[in-house]
Amino acid sequence: MQVCDGCGAQADGAHIRRRIERLELATRFRPIHIQVLLIDAAPPARQEDYFYHATNRGDRSQSSRDYFDEIAKCSGLTINPEMNEESTLAEFQHRGFYLAHVRECPAERTDEWEGALGRLGTVMIRRVEKSYKPKYIVLLSASLGKLIPQFERSEMRDRLILDHGKPFLSSLENFATGRSVPAVSLSDQLKAALPHPA
Ligand SMILES: [Zn+2]
Repeated sequence: MQVCDGCGAQADGAHIRRRIERLELATRFRPIHIQVLLIDAAPPARQEDYFYHATNRGDRSQSSRDYFDEIAKCSGLTINPEMNEESTLAEFQHRGFYLAHVRECPAERTDEWEGALGRLGTVMIRRVEKSYKPKYIVLLSASLGKLIPQFERSEMRDRLILDHGKPFLSSLENFATGRSVPAVSLSDQLKAALPHPA
């Protein structure tokens, strides 16, 4: 067992391999200059459902497909049924968009996630300041609201785009929590909120 630097948990070899695989998949599509950094809480449990895991669409679960489409649309892309995920991700990258997670491994339990949020948030803010250096930062999960004070104390405070002082709620999260899906999609909300739509 060793400590995984993606989540801080004691992890076996399989866990570490999956984490490295996700890192490699995301790095392939990381823009050199990030315009808009979308930050979500944690990746989904199934590796096939990971945003940067380009598949022929059948391998994704329905909610993962909805999530993929909604995130891709945030960059201004139009989604069509014949699209190829690989080229969609390449275009998403080309438009300067990047999706990162505060906890880089799936969270198995909520308590595990809540306890680690403060520490992982500090690591994330350091990564944003030193490495991602995006023009704009968008938080995509209600649970990340707790990180807003940390962001507001950081060098990145002017780059944080909020929805009336709160994170934007992704439609996937709304499905998962049984809340009704907002009438305005995430991509439309972002289009309205970003000062210079990419
Ligand atoms: Zn991990």
